[in-house]
Amino acid sequence: MSFSALGLSAELLRAIAAQGYTQPTPIQSQAIPAVLSRRDVLAAAQTGTGKTAAFTLPMLQRLSQSDARHRAPRALVLTPTRELAAQVGESVSTYGQHLPLKALQIFGGVGLGPQTTALRRGVDILVATPGRLLDHVSQGNVDLSKIEFFVLDEADRMLDMGFIHDIRRVLKLLPAARQNLLFSATYSREIEQLAVGLLRNPLRIDVAPRNTAAETVTQIVHPVARDAKRSLLSHLILNGDWQQVLIFTRTKHGANRLAEQLERDGITAAAIHGNKSQGARTRALAEFKSGALRALVATDIAARGLDIDRLPHVVNFELPNVPEDYVHRIGRTGRAGADGTAVSLISPDERGLLAGIERLLGRRIDVQRIDGFAERGATDETLQADVRRQSPAPRKHHARPRADGREQGNQRAQTAHPRSHARKTTNGRSHGGARPRATV
Ligand code: AMP
Repeated sequence: MSFSALGLSAELLRAIAAQGYTQPTPIQSQAIPAVLSRRDVLAAAQTGTGKTAAFTLPMLQRLSQSDARHRAPRALVLTPTRELAAQVGESVSTYGQHLPLKALQIFGGVGLGPQTTALRRGVDILVATPGRLLDHVSQGNVDLSKIEFFVLDEADRMLDMGFIHDIRRVLKLLPAARQNLLFSATYSREIEQLAVGLLRNPLRIDVAPRNTAAETVTQIVHPVARDAKRSLLSHLILNGDWQQVLIFTRTKHGANRLAEQLERDGITAAAIHGNKSQGARTRALAEFKSGALRALVATDIAARGLDIDRLPHVVNFELPNVPEDYVHRIGRTGRAGADGTAVSLISPDERGLLAGIERLLGRRIDVQRIDGFAERGATDETLQADVRRQSPAPRKHHARPRADGREQGNQRAQTAHPRSHARKTTNGRSHGGARPRATV
């Protein structure tokens, strides 16, 4: 299958070729023809699948074919985070470089002034986070009544971040006749409800999550005492000669502290999280991409939507409370067919979280003890026995961050279920047994 067979215009094909893409990804080959034929789409696809191009390319084509003449925006893409808005905005500019369409990114953390000026001059495509968009609406800077094309990107994350009311407020401002696309990494009852109210006869597309599709990502668990995590991390980076590693912590404070400690170990590092200014985040990301920084320490929300090509190493310094976040985290590595490793440093108190992740993945993650760091007395067998014992109850709802969408400083750990002793993992495989123990 080629891009030209999907019905895209010569201008778009030229931009695609310049990116070096030779063939569409599965989500692109399904979504592009559907969107061009004006259908609504409900797509389960996460970052790394090529989902941004899957909606951006046909959106650009649809807009360039219409002869509407007014200054109000005709397409709106809502994203949960500033980073994702910036990344989608960049894709719109890249793919639309040969088309006479104007795009604007609107997100918080930067001044309203330049955005207001740009809005007044007139734009075709708005890529926005909900809060800042509504700020502009309330100041009368933007008219959403001419929107023909609406995209809700990473809808599950939007709901997790408490944006549902903002989304509903935005929807009320849009005209009834429009095309709608909803992208979400996961489906839940809330997403279904949102989709029912938003989409008309949508084409439903499911693409395999990267963690099951991408055999290129090697996932490893290292058991370690909590207070030995930092020295183990430095050991892995220095001994493995890792030059680019994205590290996840659960809290903003933890991210700061870890970045400082890594620096003390001679590893160039910076932290990015919701308390950092947009300028500091952009700078850290640019330095990390260029190789000036070896380690980037991030919280889940700050890392959402980061697009770093061929990231070789991702480390879970702490496991996330929500198993789906593990999938998002490891989706940062092994992209576009490149090899990658996702390493999790697991202290004894995190074994219940590990069990929840393995249940979601439907498989076990290999355990490797590292001489001198593995917690005393923890063999693979005792680790797996603990995983079984601490296996949490099936989760009904995500742990929700604060309703204002900002990260929590201190999230509560997921608690073990008291009756979980007899519960089996979803893959039904035995946890014990004499698996060879790898030492790296
Ligand atoms: P996304 O899922 O939108 O975050 O995209 C993930 C990455 O895949 C981005 O770095 C894109 O530049 C890249 N990409 C998107 N479409 C293709 C394609 N058809 N072939 C190769 N790479 C692609």
